[in-house]
Amino acid sequence: MEQMKTHIKSNINDPVFTIGVASKMLSVSPETLRMYEREGLLISYRTRTGRRMYSHEDLDWILCIRNQIKHKKLNLAGIKRLLSLLPCWEISPCDSNKHFECNAFLINDKVCWQLDNTPCRSKKLDCYKCPVYRMAPKIDNLKMELDISLRKS
Ligand code: SF4
Repeated sequence: MEQMKTHIKSNINDPVFTIGVASKMLSVSPETLRMYEREGLLISYRTRTGRRMYSHEDLDWILCIRNQIKHKKLNLAGIKRLLSLLPCWEISPCDSNKHFECNAFLINDKVCWQLDNTPCRSKKLDCYKCPVYRMAPKIDNLKMELDISLRKS
């Protein structure tokens, strides 16, 4: 895939790959990519006509999801559970006075970008570009930190 990636000169976060190209590059079916999106693991960039596009960074995240499933033996629910533990209120600039009005802070059993009734939702913030969503590929570190703190407790 590295070879194909370098043929297209673009920044890591420019959404330049269609779903067809992304699925060929990653050997993952377009249906699987749509399913990851329905499940809330993946957010695709949408063009004005509603076409899904992916950046290099998105492709890396998809590979990370595949790796969690194939090698770390996590299922989609397990990956979502890990992602739901990301403290979005610490990562994104979030008004601490609003914490107790935000479902992401109060109920952390869903990824924040799938929750309704959050201050982000009412401000129509773009989750695709949000640093919280962009931290998703770091779930390996998150898992390690959780394992360590569980062992300590
Ligand atoms: S903008 Fe979206 S991804 Fe970012 S903290 Fe808000 S809900 Fe989560």
